[in-house]
Amino acid sequence: MRDRPHWSYSAITQYLRCPLQYFFQRVLGIPSHSIGTGLALGSAVHAGLAEYHQRLQRKEALDTELVLKAFHECWDEKELNETIQYRDGDTREDSIEQGVHLLELYLKEPPPEGIVAVEQRILVPLYNSLGEYLETPLVAITDLITETNEDLTVREFKTSGRAYSESDVASSLQPTCYVHAVRETLGRDANVEYTVLVKTKTPKIQRLKTSRFAEDCGRLGDLVQTIQRAVDLGIFYPVESPMNCSTCPYRQPCREWGQKPRAQDEFVPLTIPLEMACSLNSTARAAVCVSQPDKASSVAP
Ligand code: SF4
Repeated sequence: MRDRPHWSYSAITQYLRCPLQYFFQRVLGIPSHSIGTGLALGSAVHAGLAEYHQRLQRKEALDTELVLKAFHECWDEKELNETIQYRDGDTREDSIEQGVHLLELYLKEPPPEGIVAVEQRILVPLYNSLGEYLETPLVAITDLITETNEDLTVREFKTSGRAYSESDVASSLQPTCYVHAVRETLGRDANVEYTVLVKTKTPKIQRLKTSRFAEDCGRLGDLVQTIQRAVDLGIFYPVESPMNCSTCPYRQPCREWGQKPRAQDEFVPLTIPLEMACSLNSTARAAVCVSQPDKASSVAP
């Protein structure tokens, strides 16, 4: 069954990061056959964590082998379906070893208590700051939701080459998506806690808490509404940066973007009613004629 159109944190941030990459992936639907090593490792670690948390929720004993099996199976599936792009001297063996170390480190931590949901997919409407509902809903997939002392916490897990700063979590839209999703489904506020599995030489675990409020949810709706307008208008352009482009699977179509020669027949003469043309003075008539070729060439690729 086809998923109904929806927004997600990754779609929102992809448009903000590079609208052209969004266009290739989500408008044209060009399949991506490669994945960065960070993303592949993050997915495999998440698979291991989900196995662990689901066993905890079912009150089953810890089985490290099964957790690592889930990690390896996810990694193998990524390798089978996509080319993993290693960078900065990363190797396959180092990446797998890092993932295993991070999981083993996390398993030594006190286990989370009061598990309410693991890998929960939540579909909710979005509204803007005026309280007007948007046509397209939001899908949020939470890694883990816990409840202790009547406090709901959405727990987000990250693998990262560096520790996060307070401002990383304070400015991210992801906690806003989670808090909005929980408010809309349960009618309750939730806090968000990041657990960052840091892939430094000596792996470590960092925890950071953050909060979001009703006005943040309205602001999220304002932002999505604006992006939706831009998408509807066909506003897609490249944002080139080492961070964006080094593992982008669309580098070839990106290079070809905007290189179409401007054919003579792309020129579309502006037709205006005769009575209006007669009422324009000579300066205005000249402006209409001069501006038309630019308008024709600004059509999205
Ligand atoms: S190569 Fe860079 S600029 Fe081009 S689509 Fe990809 S991320 Fe965007």
